[in-house]
Amino acid sequence: MSTPTLLHRIGGKAVPGEDTAATLIPVVNPATGAELGTFRPAGPADIDAAVEAAAAGRRLWAATTPAERGKVLTTAAGLLRARNDELALIDTRDTGRPIQETTVVDVTSAADCLDYFGGLGASLELAEDVPLPDGTMSAYTRREPLGICAGIGAWNYPLQIAAWKAAPALLCGNAMIFKPSELTPRSALLLADVLAEAGLPDGVFSVVLGAGATGAALIDHPDIAKVSLTGSVPTGSAVMAAAAATLKVVSLELGGKSPIIVCEDADLDDAVSGAILGNFYSSGQICSNGTRVFVHESVVEPFLDRLRERASRIVAGDPEDPATELGPLISQAQFAKVTDYIATGVGEGARLVCGGDVITDGVPAGGRYVAPTVFADCTDDMTIVREEIFGPVMSVLTFAADDEAVTRANATPFGLSAGVFSADLDRARGLVARLEAGTCWINTYNVTPVEVPFGGVKRSGFGRENGRAAIDHYTYVKSVIVETAPLESPY
Ligand code: NDP
Repeated sequence: MSTPTLLHRIGGKAVPGEDTAATLIPVVNPATGAELGTFRPAGPADIDAAVEAAAAGRRLWAATTPAERGKVLTTAAGLLRARNDELALIDTRDTGRPIQETTVVDVTSAADCLDYFGGLGASLELAEDVPLPDGTMSAYTRREPLGICAGIGAWNYPLQIAAWKAAPALLCGNAMIFKPSELTPRSALLLADVLAEAGLPDGVFSVVLGAGATGAALIDHPDIAKVSLTGSVPTGSAVMAAAAATLKVVSLELGGKSPIIVCEDADLDDAVSGAILGNFYSSGQICSNGTRVFVHESVVEPFLDRLRERASRIVAGDPEDPATELGPLISQAQFAKVTDYIATGVGEGARLVCGGDVITDGVPAGGRYVAPTVFADCTDDMTIVREEIFGPVMSVLTFAADDEAVTRANATPFGLSAGVFSADLDRARGLVARLEAGTCWINTYNVTPVEVPFGGVKRSGFGRENGRAAIDHYTYVKSVIVETAPLESPY
């Protein structure tokens, strides 16, 4: 039986793509290997069409007030929530992530984001008076939309990533052309439909389907003002280099190798919960994961005992079964990468506390499952401690003093996130103040309320999503100086 042809959403229309000679790209369910659909990747003609539609749509959209734009976003949030289960199933089938995750996280997070930025609309102050000493001269600034923005997404949280980029961009009066990962393109298409149903003018949010070449073509387009990428560090470097040719504004949400510091006074059960959430949720395929867990040497053995006991109980299975807690990895390539890292960890002398093996029992035959894996006795120079794995693999290290923990936690090119577990909040705040990371958690991990800015430092990228900070990344400041007295001129 043939599977559906997925259609781009360009200028308010669902279209197959101009390049009829292009090789069709299949979308595959990572749990079963079943094909979910195919699409013709967007080429230069499709990108031109999306840019033309965006330019036309944006003229209408930018002329509306933030409050009017906000209403469209909050209406879309309601429509998304009403389709929660349908969208969750799409993201589960595209990503392989358990339905128990996608029904409570993905659609909710996307809708919360649309609600948050929609709600900001009425109170969004895009203009500011600037007092000047001269009595006859005044000045103000206005925050103006950048224009047409490109959004490019990773495969792990497809709907959330699309909404986190679209909501602030649209609130500020921009248009967005979004390219989801070729592996997980379907929920972004529905986001476009929902925004259209909510009243967004045609062309203001288009979705072009394709692989890296389509993303690269967006970045090359001279009429696109900004690109916001969620992806890996190598892709971030390539995007930034390409964006230099047309001097686009760039935001990069990239990978990480984040530390979690567990002090000896921490509630150990909470710390184990944080380490599990920060390593095994979504089979470890989360950018902000705390994959280097520094545990005070005096509590490391009880920490490992509790961790082993709880990690071994995680239920792998069919992602569509509500009881399943661990799904497959996204692809054969990711599976090979993760299992290679596990072999390297063993080879470099790390102690396998649990996992390390491939799961084949009780899981769909087409899926590639890796058991939640904990390595102890890790050292800072081991490959598994230095490189992002993007799978369910945790490295546990020990430390003796807080200064040492901070120095070693910061000894990485990444800087996305960090966590501290301690009963002493002053101590935890002190540690966090010295950690080089864009988002830090104290006594919790991987929670990302939309009100709070999210993003990295160092090679984890720059720019911020969520919170009011996102507005800065989708606007530029225009300064206006006004003279009311007769103008003196030397000529
Ligand atoms: P990739 O970097 O492989 O891809 C990200 C996106 O960029 C995809 O849509 C991809 O297309 C596209 N792309 C690839 N090459 C180019 C190019 N030259 N120009 C323009 N676009 C391009 O990342 P993954 O999808 O594999 O996602 C995993 C990575 O994302 C991890 O490193 C993870 O840490 C990071 N990530 C970061 C997050 C954050 O918020 N900081 C959140 C989630 C993930 P396609 O894949 O379709 O070929």
